[in-house]
Amino acid sequence: MNIAEIDRQHVWHHLSQHAIYDHKQPPVMVKGEGLKVWDINGKEYLDASAGGVWTVNVGYGRRSIAEAVKQQLETLNFFAATAGTPVAAEFSKKLLEKMPGMSRVYLSNSGSEANEKAYKMVRQIAHKKYNGKKHKILYRERDYHGTTITCLSSTGQEERRSQYGPFTPGFIEIPHCCEYRSQYGDIADYGIRAAKAMEEVILKEGPDTIGAVVLEPITAGGGVITPPEGYWQKIQEICRKYDILLHIDEVVCGMGRTGAWFGYQHYGIKPDIVTLAKGVASGYAAISCTVTTEAVFNLFKSNPEDREDYFRDISTFGGCTAGPAAALENLRILEDEKLLENASHMGEYLMAGLRQLQQKHPIVGDVRGKGLFLGIELVNDPVSKEPVDEQVAIKVAGLCLEKGLMIGRTNRSFSQFNNTLCLSPALTINQEEADRILSILDEVITEISP
Ligand code: PMP
Repeated sequence: MNIAEIDRQHVWHHLSQHAIYDHKQPPVMVKGEGLKVWDINGKEYLDASAGGVWTVNVGYGRRSIAEAVKQQLETLNFFAATAGTPVAAEFSKKLLEKMPGMSRVYLSNSGSEANEKAYKMVRQIAHKKYNGKKHKILYRERDYHGTTITCLSSTGQEERRSQYGPFTPGFIEIPHCCEYRSQYGDIADYGIRAAKAMEEVILKEGPDTIGAVVLEPITAGGGVITPPEGYWQKIQEICRKYDILLHIDEVVCGMGRTGAWFGYQHYGIKPDIVTLAKGVASGYAAISCTVTTEAVFNLFKSNPEDREDYFRDISTFGGCTAGPAAALENLRILEDEKLLENASHMGEYLMAGLRQLQQKHPIVGDVRGKGLFLGIELVNDPVSKEPVDEQVAIKVAGLCLEKGLMIGRTNRSFSQFNNTLCLSPALTINQEEADRILSILDEVITEISP
């Protein structure tokens, strides 16, 4: 039996309806180099999705990361993170140099886990400082924060939540901030209005019941939603006014994806908690981080005699050294190869190309994003903005794949945001590769346009 058939019979693929594999093989990927990836049949693809889920920021086939991991594993593969290791210490210091104002790194293994740690911190702070009252956490419609039941409890995407309830109590939704899909009509200060929507929720719930708000800097899977003008400043102002911690989920946008080290750094805000995962080691090892300010960290330092007051959390594999070893070398590559600069520059180049596609094809309703994190919203009519049927977006992605281009699609949705394609190539992308992405997209959109 060949490997593809063994896969078909034994592997349960993520986010997949397996009925479609009753009569065909699921994709099996075998090799990558730069932006290229090859499947088991030898077909070559240009990957504009960084591994399907915005992860491989430095590109495939990095021998120096593999070497750093190998050396570390031969020296010390694991020790519980109750103790330190040189590699985790060195990585944490380097990471914090890119995050002025932040002070401590808590290591775990996935974006969901990093967010769960943050929620636990917020809940424990509520108990320590506010008699348990200030325990609610706000999250935003269209944002995603992970796969566990509690992360889904803080996720504003019905397509991810349905059939998984009941959910963890204490998570409250605030409205989305997608200007293209404005809930308030065509208004000049949409950003301020959208941020004030958070304040309305706070006042309704009671400010003394709300401990934190978790937000993506740019909503990723929910439709590549870039924050409108003035939004972030207002959000920060409201958080300070009501003593609410600002937790930014940088799982997708962090580590250079948007052309800054972190998405929030475009907007001049100062978070209390930042969570990171995907690009931290570009998928060469599993690692995630919950990063806090010294002020948050200090809340957990108290009388050593007290047996409950410290952060009573542990994650076994937070002690794997492969993660920080890969992450340290990943950081060096991002810096030495000036990949943030490339992300900004090539992001603008791709965006200019997408704007041309928008001019040419009425089906391209909106293009948005920052750096190398770009979205293309498809509509039946640019005036009414009626979204295309989900099948159209699926078809575009499928035709691109046939032509050797991998692009992403944001999540299937019961709402209006089911129609956005996503480009997120490795930050090493060059002009020739960008041109190829644009030309295949142009071809496919021409083919499917009515
Ligand atoms: N936050 C965001 C913004 C994400 O997009 C994701 C994953 N797509 C997560 C958290 C969860 O990360 P993981 O799948 O590593 O648990």
